[in-house]
Amino acid sequence: MDISSKTGIKEITSKYNIFPHKKWGQNFLMDKNILNKIANVSCLTSADHVIEIGPGLGALTREIANRSKGVLAIEIDPALQDVLQETLADINNSRLRMADVLKVNLEQELLDAFNLSKLDTYKVCANIPYNITTPIIFNLLEKCPNMKYAVLMIQKEVAARIKAQPGNKEYGLLTVMIKYYAEVEYLMDVSRNCFFPRPEVDSSVIKIIPHGANQFKLKNETGFKSLVRKAFQMRRKTMLNICSAEFGVEKEKIKRYLDILDIDYNKRPENLTIHNFISIAENWPAAMEESFD
Ligand code: SAM
Repeated sequence: MDISSKTGIKEITSKYNIFPHKKWGQNFLMDKNILNKIANVSCLTSADHVIEIGPGLGALTREIANRSKGVLAIEIDPALQDVLQETLADINNSRLRMADVLKVNLEQELLDAFNLSKLDTYKVCANIPYNITTPIIFNLLEKCPNMKYAVLMIQKEVAARIKAQPGNKEYGLLTVMIKYYAEVEYLMDVSRNCFFPRPEVDSSVIKIIPHGANQFKLKNETGFKSLVRKAFQMRRKTMLNICSAEFGVEKEKIKRYLDILDIDYNKRPENLTIHNFISIAENWPAAMEESFD
């Protein structure tokens, strides 16, 4: 049975009496060519361990397994366990863990699944459930220090927000916060027609590469995150108003402060680079106090 075709998907889902669940974003890829492309752009080698989030029926898992040392597939839907046992039966380097990806320690799971004594870098490759895209990405970026990169299929509109440049209406909290942790490459678009059932949105595949050793080293990470959050909550306001609210001081002081940093206080957050946000958060209030010495 070819589970990367519509006929195969219908056959296996009816055999196990499975109905795709919307709440878990169950839209299965039914295009062999796209599955191949995703696995190929993930640049896997026989030395790589890979984590796949949401294997579904196992179509992408098979492609990953064929190109890697081993794949750990983490699936939430208990009804898919028997299906996956059948569809991955001939693949000896795949491991299945039935769990909510947001509730497990992924690196520990990888160690356990392959009985590893220590963790080298590994890759993530997945067609993820779109309703939990943001928590999945931040989990990977904040809790997976050994991850080399993640190749993820996500909703096209979300990919556009992640990749947006300052000055673009898509540019926002998600853009800046992901940029804080990683570089993002756009790899390809995938039409909604490649899925069964057909979703209401198109998709894009992106590659998220953590900065690693080049990570920004901030004195006040909490202050930076708080400023960025506030800025995009008030995205129609100028940085003058936003900083005044964030730091709780009158606007005259903020004008002087942003002048010292050479940042136009009439700008709106969507026009600031991540470096501007870092500069504002990291220098407060020392830069202003020093200017009066
Ligand atoms: N990889 C398959 C494919 O490409 O055809 C299925 C992808 S489907 C978009 C998303 C998969 O993620 C589904 O199998 C769904 O059950 C699973 N999933 C949803 N929420 C999850 C969670 N919190 N943890 C683990 N898997 C989850």
